[in-house]
Amino acid sequence: VTFTADFDVTGRDVTVIGGSADALGNITSLLRGGASVTVVAPEAALTIRDLAARGLISWRQRSAEPADFEIAALVIAATGNDQWNDEVAAEAAQHNRVTLTVPAQPQPVAAPLPAEQRGTVILVGGGPGDPGLLTVAGLAAIRSADVIICDRLAPLPALQQARAGAEIIDVGKIPRGSYTSQERINEQLIRYGRQGKRVVRLKGGDNFVFGRGGEEWQACVAAGIPVQVIPGVTSAVAGPALAGIPLTHRQLTQGFTVVSGHLPPGDPGSTLNWGALARANTTLVIMMGVSTLPAIAAELIGQGLAASTAAITVSDAGLPSQRAVRGTVSTIAALCSEALMKPPAITVIGAVAGFDPAG
Ligand code: SAH
Repeated sequence: VTFTADFDVTGRDVTVIGGSADALGNITSLLRGGASVTVVAPEAALTIRDLAARGLISWRQRSAEPADFEIAALVIAATGNDQWNDEVAAEAAQHNRVTLTVPAQPQPVAAPLPAEQRGTVILVGGGPGDPGLLTVAGLAAIRSADVIICDRLAPLPALQQARAGAEIIDVGKIPRGSYTSQERINEQLIRYGRQGKRVVRLKGGDNFVFGRGGEEWQACVAAGIPVQVIPGVTSAVAGPALAGIPLTHRQLTQGFTVVSGHLPPGDPGSTLNWGALARANTTLVIMMGVSTLPAIAAELIGQGLAASTAAITVSDAGLPSQRAVRGTVSTIAALCSEALMKPPAITVIGAVAGFDPAG
């Protein structure tokens, strides 16, 4: 028989004994819950050190002492070893403290995976960058992956959830900087898939929204590699939402249109009809459009969009560095350049861009 109770950790001291990466989910949830977290461990995972360096938690770089239990409202045993965790729980009990145990992660499996798990590519949408906006299914895929091929906009903290021994491959693309070609990424997906690996292709947002997920799927199918799709929270919707912008609103607009701004209007490669977009009377969401924003805004106004139409640009949505600049379609480009707004950023143009929930 078990007894389950909620425990409000707001303002409470929680001591985590052990610095295993398996505890990151607990530590970050405790932080979100307002707890004051102290990790006691001679060694700590990189992100635990990082949280300590940023002043978000305390890290006592040593073995546990009685005082660590005395101050704790709750003890977390996360030594990465089940027997040690039992010892921590026993010691906490002597101090009349409740212990929550993080079971040790199984060691990497040397034995072949079950047949149905062999050679699969899983396209995982990771959300805009906050690991909290990764789906439960996406996280499960990360946890079970042999190989994770990820981009810079993916929720990289979630990589800490990968199992020990998983291979992590960074195929990040820096705008106008170095990048891994799509052909090379496809080759890797196929190569690892053919080796019988469980391959997670982890991207920011949703893989099918300017994420080349369709191309990767085709390449895998052509090579006989089965593909599974786990949709993600696209930044096209989440970015504006995190800045307080609803893309639709019954009184303001009956739709939204998402476009890539990577090519300016008039570019021979552009297939967008900017005149139609200017007159569509729906919210316009522009991705990959930081450098082209002056040309896009001018084109929209030239094609008849009212210069006073509200606009907002949100960068680094869902990350601690998130920023937003508000203006109108006629001022937003200059305001963004003054504010040194950098990719990744999304611009929303339309009445909803001026949304104020209190207004
Ligand atoms: N598949 C992704 C989009 C990839 S294209 C998705 O569904 O979200 C890359 C563009 O997405 C960036 O240039 C930017 O416009 C947008 N983007 C991605 N992450 C973002 C973030 N955290 N904040 C703001 N914009 C972001």
